[in-house]
Amino acid sequence: MIYFDNAATTAPSERVIEAVTEGLRNFGNPSSLHGLGLEAEKRREAARESVATALGALPEEIYFTSCATESSNTAIFGVSKTVGKRKKRIVTTSVEHPSVERCCAALEEQGFEIIRVRPDSSGSISAESIVSAVNDDTCLVTAMLVNNENGRIVPVGEAFAGIRKKYPQTVLHCDCVQGFMKLPVKAKKLGADLISLSAHKIHGPKGIGALYIRKGLHIPAFIVGGGQERGFRSGTESLPLIMGFGAACDELSGTIDQRFARVSALRDRLFALCRETDGISLNSDSECSPYITSLAVSGLKSEVMLHFLEQRGIYVSSGSACSKGKKSSVIAEFGISGELSDSVLRISFSAENTEEEVAALIEALKEAQRSLAHIR
Ligand code: PLP
Repeated sequence: MIYFDNAATTAPSERVIEAVTEGLRNFGNPSSLHGLGLEAEKRREAARESVATALGALPEEIYFTSCATESSNTAIFGVSKTVGKRKKRIVTTSVEHPSVERCCAALEEQGFEIIRVRPDSSGSISAESIVSAVNDDTCLVTAMLVNNENGRIVPVGEAFAGIRKKYPQTVLHCDCVQGFMKLPVKAKKLGADLISLSAHKIHGPKGIGALYIRKGLHIPAFIVGGGQERGFRSGTESLPLIMGFGAACDELSGTIDQRFARVSALRDRLFALCRETDGISLNSDSECSPYITSLAVSGLKSEVMLHFLEQRGIYVSSGSACSKGKKSSVIAEFGISGELSDSVLRISFSAENTEEEVAALIEALKEAQRSLAHIR
């Protein structure tokens, strides 16, 4: 199997599987006062420290959630109920993941003014374009660090620094799902108040994410009940998943630069082979995260290509996994429209991929061009 769909999800590493298993064996409830409970609590806190260290945050700034979608919902709706009571503008981008965009759209229906900053003709979103959309009435800016469909990096740190100077009361949220553990993301350097993270994109388990909340910022609890996660997110914690998340952070923290260099080399090879091949166009460039590349094979529909590749043991995605075959509006925002947008494929790497696999992908694409020509 050649797995090029790492932006959808990643394979859990052996160390993560061991940590999850250990979490299952430590079945105590972290809220119990007896020894089993205390042991579970100790392990939960060790994992929190691992996530915090990886993000350059304090352990008390990390709250475990079920996924990044929950983190972003909590962050965005939370701010709408605090600062949003007085200020009604939210600035975001037009290329956000649905977990952010849908929150903004829901708030728009409630009367919030949503400004969606669009990419320019080169596909970039400048820091200045985000800063200039903010005004005195802005409660929240929410922008992603790395786009999940084509790897475009948004200069969030620069934008947040500019906004902080002019509008210090505006709350700043970043969806770091496709950047965390891939780029050197640090909370303080990013300057965000709120950050959404997901474990399953970094070789951790599914069903666990985190929300970073800068110390001193208050947002209301999303789930109320027994008061877990210091009253912020009730519900008995999933120690296996939390331990798996911690293990993934421990495992990857020290190798961000190494993996970046390795994946950049794979991406450069992919770009070179695509440019040598007629009929393949690239929707990503060298300014994008090397982990995600969007391309289109002209005249061949994404779904057809996806299945053709799968029959050869190659797994890619048509657009983003969450669009489930639905045409992505985000790709259109990046200027890919008309027939070409029906042919978009997303190739997303992990450091486990190899140059031979990249070459095999290109050979398979060429074979598809030859053998599927009749259904164009
Ligand atoms: N944000 C981005 C940029 C993503 O790519 C994804 C998943 O594809 C999410 C958020 C949602 O993450 P989760 O599956 O943890 O809810």
